[in-house]
Amino acid sequence: YSGKKPGHDVTDTMNNMKVKDFQSIPVVVRENVSVYDAISQMFLDDVGTLFVVDKNSLLTGVLSRKDLLRTSIGSQDLTSIPVHIIMTRMPNITYCFKTDSLIQVANRLINQQIDALPVVEELANGLKVVGRITKTNITRAFLSLSESHEL
Ligand code: ADP
Repeated sequence: YSGKKPGHDVTDTMNNMKVKDFQSIPVVVRENVSVYDAISQMFLDDVGTLFVVDKNSLLTGVLSRKDLLRTSIGSQDLTSIPVHIIMTRMPNITYCFKTDSLIQVANRLINQQIDALPVVEELANGLKVVGRITKTNITRAFLSLSESHEL
């Protein structure tokens, strides 16, 4: 006996997969850091998406690799451009909660054509960033199905 569940249970397991079981640690930068420093941060923390927060650690924006590349191909001084100038900003940010299902998140990633979502908690004055969920987390979840089920 392999210890794996039968294949027909796989949809149940999928529907029960939650963000909190697969999320990663978020990497955040403040709104006033330069594009140059944001690029350095992206390399240092080995992520493709940075979340931008204000002085109260509330979500204000998202920076993708292409946002930073687009700015970099202009011949501007990257140390003098703050990221809030180029980021995608609230309220246009797609986010999720840690209790959301992974299927919902996968849907949003595909429909919005984005790579990552911030996992947030709702506070009185805004959204606190508590996690990050990316296509990599979804792929890991997909793989975990083959480890727990007889496919
Ligand atoms: P890349 O631009 O490197 O391909 P994405 O596909 O994730 O990475 O980003 C595409 C665009 O969508 C970028 O302009 C980025 O700022 C924006 N974006 C990324 N993630 C989100 C999100 N969760 N909510 C809203 N916009 C986002």
